[in-house]
Amino acid sequence: MNKAGVPDEVPVLVAGGGPVGLATAVELAHHGVRSLVVEPRETVSWLRPRAKTTSARTMELLRRWGLAETLRARAPLAVSWSDQAVFVNSLLGREIARIGGCFGLDLAGSDLAAEPGQQAPQPLVEEILREAAGDALLTGWQVAGLTEDGDGVTVRIVSGEGEEREVRAAYVVGCDGPRSVTRAAIGARYEGRQDARPNFNIVFRAPGLAERVPHGPAVHYWVLNPAQPGLTGRLDLKDTWWCIAQGVRAEDADPVRLVRNLAGDDDLEVEILATDPWTARMLLADRYASARVFLAGDAAHQNPPYGGHGFNTGIGDAVNIGWKLAAVLNGWAPAALLGTYEAERRPIAADTIEAAAANMATLAPELADPALMGDEAEFEKVRPAVAEAVLRTKHSEFHSLDLVLGYVYTGSPIVADGAGERLPHRWLAPGVSLYDRLGRGFAVLGDPDAPGVKILEAEARDLGVPLELVPLPGEPLTLVRPDQHVAWRGENPEGALRHALAMS
Ligand SMILES: Cc1cc2nc3c(=O)[nH]c(=O)nc-3n(C[C@H](O)[C@H](O)[C@H](O)COP(=O)(O)OP(=O)(O)OC[C@H]3O[C@@H](n4cnc5c(N)ncnc54)[C@H](O)[C@@H]3O)c2cc1C
Repeated sequence: MNKAGVPDEVPVLVAGGGPVGLATAVELAHHGVRSLVVEPRETVSWLRPRAKTTSARTMELLRRWGLAETLRARAPLAVSWSDQAVFVNSLLGREIARIGGCFGLDLAGSDLAAEPGQQAPQPLVEEILREAAGDALLTGWQVAGLTEDGDGVTVRIVSGEGEEREVRAAYVVGCDGPRSVTRAAIGARYEGRQDARPNFNIVFRAPGLAERVPHGPAVHYWVLNPAQPGLTGRLDLKDTWWCIAQGVRAEDADPVRLVRNLAGDDDLEVEILATDPWTARMLLADRYASARVFLAGDAAHQNPPYGGHGFNTGIGDAVNIGWKLAAVLNGWAPAALLGTYEAERRPIAADTIEAAAANMATLAPELADPALMGDEAEFEKVRPAVAEAVLRTKHSEFHSLDLVLGYVYTGSPIVADGAGERLPHRWLAPGVSLYDRLGRGFAVLGDPDAPGVKILEAEARDLGVPLELVPLPGEPLTLVRPDQHVAWRGENPEGALRHALAMS
């Protein structure tokens, strides 16, 4: 340690302590690897609650870290509270259509996932991850630059007071968001496009508004008013709400008026707590890594928020690079394993960007119709056609389990042909998922008497790889990686573990 309480050396330095940087530190700690997360913000940004959708897959990963119950217990909207998205002509007005079972919120007890999704403001997720990261988190400092050589990376960090330090790390993970210093330092570039329409987020307090909403609980209320399209929802069960006004430039925005328009009440009592203008971007870094520096989360990819994939995709990155770095640093994999990170994660980000862009093609402005704002007869005349358009165009945005749970590391050099998918979850006993039995390293599932088990156990012993046997009598052998993805399936696992660790 040097004078400022900053270590001189650390196995992994993580640039940025947003959700993805913190998750990277938690994943590393899960495998016993120390890291330092360098983050300028002393506290999380309660008034900038960007992500609200924590996907079923992210919840499964939080369960793996022992944090799923913590998030549910502290989330202001219980998962049982609502799984509905309601389409209305104003928050206090008429209902046009509704979609249920949104965002995997209806998956409690399901055979599809060990955890349902959870609505939670991003700062709450970050706070829980900050607590879990513990001493690994260094706030009040930011990464100013880095130099990589054959043995490691020298990272220059600067405090809010302008103090400078150098930290030596074996590896760096750049989770420093859209304007990533790390991305620039390794010469990687964002490629892609941005949406032309501006968006304006507002956090507001409106006492008594919730009690007047005639549509019942919903996680999203989409307002299809051509004069002021947007979407809104509750941040808690008190009086705090979020909304996105679409097509509104920050310089033209009158936040109180925007909220009143979305609510459909010109006299609504509103207290504006914060505003946050943003633009939707479809960007993917042209490469994800140098030899010792890896990009994760928004530093590597950005997608429109429709479908709620941004930080969730980043958590998938964090787990993928986290277990691989730990395997290398713990001495049971060669550095070549790290070269598979980009091959596995970049195609997933590309698919996610395209799916989110497709979701953005039809938003409240496109669905809105002036007749929806007319008298009851005019409304009823157009309602069926608008409802049909809503259900036709928006269903996949709210039901994207293929993307959330179904992604496969096709083409990865370390998964066997036909493997690479997330191990299907199943319940072994009430409340006990197969995932709960996998251990922290690799796992072999299947008949404990199969000859292949001995082969894998011997290979694991030779290589020093932690391997957990999960007996499933009568079932074929499956080799599962630390990230719960299937590395191999079959009868003769000769060489399967070496292949999964990029040794062959
Ligand atoms: C309106 C809106 C709604 C959204 N809804 C969802 C949703 O429902 N679900 C979802 O999954 N995603 C959603 N997103 C996307 C989500 O907010 C981002 O994908 C997420 O914040 C990315 O996390 P990150 O950790 O990669 O980056 P960030 O959250 O951007 O964190 C980067 C961190 O790096 C720090 N930093 C910056 N520069 C440096 C530096 N030089 N050195 C050190 N640290 C640095 C920053 O302070 C910050 O803490 C939404 C986004 C928007 C705009």
